[in-house]
Amino acid sequence: MPKDSYHIVVLPGDGIGPEVISHAQRILRAVESASGVNFDFEEIPCGGHYYLKHEKEWPDGSLDRCRAADAILLGAVGHQVDGKDVFTKPGRPYPTSRLAGYAQVIGNRQNLDLYANVRPIRLYPSVKTKISNQFKEVWNADMIDYVIVRENTEGAYTSETVDLEENGKFVGRGTMIRATRKATERIVRFACNLARDRNQEKRVTCCDKANVIGAHSFFREIFTEIASNEFPDIERDYAYFDAFCQWQLRSPENYDVVVTTNLVGDVISDNGAIAQGGLGFAAGGNIGNDRAMFEPIHGSAPKYTGMNKVNPTACILACNMMLEWLGDKHGDPALTEASKRLDESVAEVWALQKAVTYDQGGSAKGSDVAEAIEEAFLSRYPVSNTKSKS
Ligand code: NAD
Ligand code: MN
Repeated sequence: MPKDSYHIVVLPGDGIGPEVISHAQRILRAVESASGVNFDFEEIPCGGHYYLKHEKEWPDGSLDRCRAADAILLGAVGHQVDGKDVFTKPGRPYPTSRLAGYAQVIGNRQNLDLYANVRPIRLYPSVKTKISNQFKEVWNADMIDYVIVRENTEGAYTSETVDLEENGKFVGRGTMIRATRKATERIVRFACNLARDRNQEKRVTCCDKANVIGAHSFFREIFTEIASNEFPDIERDYAYFDAFCQWQLRSPENYDVVVTTNLVGDVISDNGAIAQGGLGFAAGGNIGNDRAMFEPIHGSAPKYTGMNKVNPTACILACNMMLEWLGDKHGDPALTEASKRLDESVAEVWALQKAVTYDQGGSAKGSDVAEAIEEAFLSRYPVSNTKSKS
């Protein structure tokens, strides 16, 4: 059932996070005025700059606010002082020191059980690839269209870290990489169902390092078992992730859905972003059974803070994933339609090169990109349809 209003928790975070979030919210306001849906935004301050001031990563009760939301929108976290990341103090609240902002990113993924990290790798027409400081159109847009599905709750990022001792002496630190049957089965099912829904090549590539990492060979076994028993219509494909890093740039058109572990998914989605024009175009959704958090996949890019220079398209595309997910979940045709029109608007702005930021060789501001997308979006709705907000 469509809702009168969707409660969106917004976590702007650090660095360029607040900036790209404000550009994306401008688009969401345009969605409200054009399509008649309503968002009720709740902004929560968080991240490394907040930690420096308050010795905690966000206000008490914030996790429950996230849990209660219809969806979460995250900018980026990671604050630097003298070029160094701000970390939480060891043992408070974690056994080892972690980036201040862990609670918002990996904490939310785990605590809200957002087990599938969905990262579409798509290229819009006229978007260029930067190689040796030159901007080139390397691929046709229709060649780059696949989705990385990254297991988001275990693997190297969330496993236990222990002090290693030899003869009673501290010699280093080790992290046990986990892949459990439950988490692996559900991510494989998610990926295979996505390949069915996309209805394109109907191929799922399992990307891992099963030849040397035990947990990955288990991941691959479960993939084979679940995919062959439950999804006989889906073609199975396998790749070791070191080799995959070059294939995904040499032959990106070979891929449809790629299922992978947590750390490997992080690596291959930034690498894959090269073929979609860079991190300024790469969006991700952290999806659970009934909750979700959407984010650009880039970090806080501290050196660009406050310059209105970076490309907000990634964050706007993350919002678009949110519109699509909310539309599906609530059976709300206004959201689904808005998502389709927003996607066309992003494509139009880049195809016509209406506002080109530095990462594409231009000198437009981030706000110019948002303004152009907003205009293209509003032009897709007849004026008489736009409701005035109370
Ligand atoms: P980063 O993604 O922040 O930036 C790397 C480079 O990518 C930037 O210098 C810039 O050249 C480019 N870039 C990033 N976003 C862009 C955009 N929207 N438009 C144009 N170009 C863009 O990665 P980093 O420098 O390794 O990390 C910076 C901080 O972010 C660190 O504190 C790191 O821990 C944190 N981080 C946070 C997240 C997250 O919040 N999910 C993810 C990755 C890194
Ligand atoms: Mn990353």
